[in-house]
Amino acid sequence: MHIDIVSAVPELLDSFLNHSILKRAQDNKTVEIFVHDLHDFADNKHRRIDDYPYGGASGMVMSIQPVEKAITQLQKERHYDEIIFPTPDAPLYNQKTANTLSTLGNIIILCGHYKGIDQRIRDHFITMEVSIGDYVLTGGELAAAIITDSIVRLIPGSISDETSALTDSFQDNLLSPPVYTRPAEYNGWKVPGVLLSGNHKDIDEWQMNEALRKTQQIRPDLLSDDLTE
Ligand code: SAM
Repeated sequence: MHIDIVSAVPELLDSFLNHSILKRAQDNKTVEIFVHDLHDFADNKHRRIDDYPYGGASGMVMSIQPVEKAITQLQKERHYDEIIFPTPDAPLYNQKTANTLSTLGNIIILCGHYKGIDQRIRDHFITMEVSIGDYVLTGGELAAAIITDSIVRLIPGSISDETSALTDSFQDNLLSPPVYTRPAEYNGWKVPGVLLSGNHKDIDEWQMNEALRKTQQIRPDLLSDDLTE
């Protein structure tokens, strides 16, 4: 998979992209991730990428010109399956969307800043808009990082135990059951005996019951979600 992230503050993504699973996935060529500085595409001598909003509202707006140049230049290199704009005024991002995106070949993620981007970019270039939650961040970099991480960990080759990602919360409309590791007893707190029993049928049943119990208690809304939507 190939991911291009267009950002006004590319440094924000440095550490994130160069550690842990994302680093390993790039090192073993499971994914290519390129971060592009939006200022490099500005056709003005001060490399400005923002301007005042029409209508006299407060804040600044990300201009069309550098974004258009960045996207059209990238499109000369390859066809993109989706051009994604993370923004609070969009449908909520979830695991189903991550699953879908993880099967694509090439995507662009455009990080917004200021009051947002000129609406005409959204109308003419963006193919998918997602919000990562009902709160407002300063810029789209954290959202781009979240989207990238959630996609890449699903691509075979990214994590050493591939079935692990498939048994995470949300994959089957359930939260993940509790997990334990050694020692079997600590400060008198014991690991549930069934997990030490070696009986895989009983363990599977316990995990399923715990996942259901947690989901009913914490996120009952998930149980009514249609997995095929
Ligand atoms: N004026 C916008 C609004 O109220 O909807 C918020 C703009 S925000 C300060 C700047 C940028 O951060 C957005 O364009 C978007 O790219 C990113 N951002 C902020 N919150 C986000 C969220 N919840 N989900 C996805 N992206 C977000």
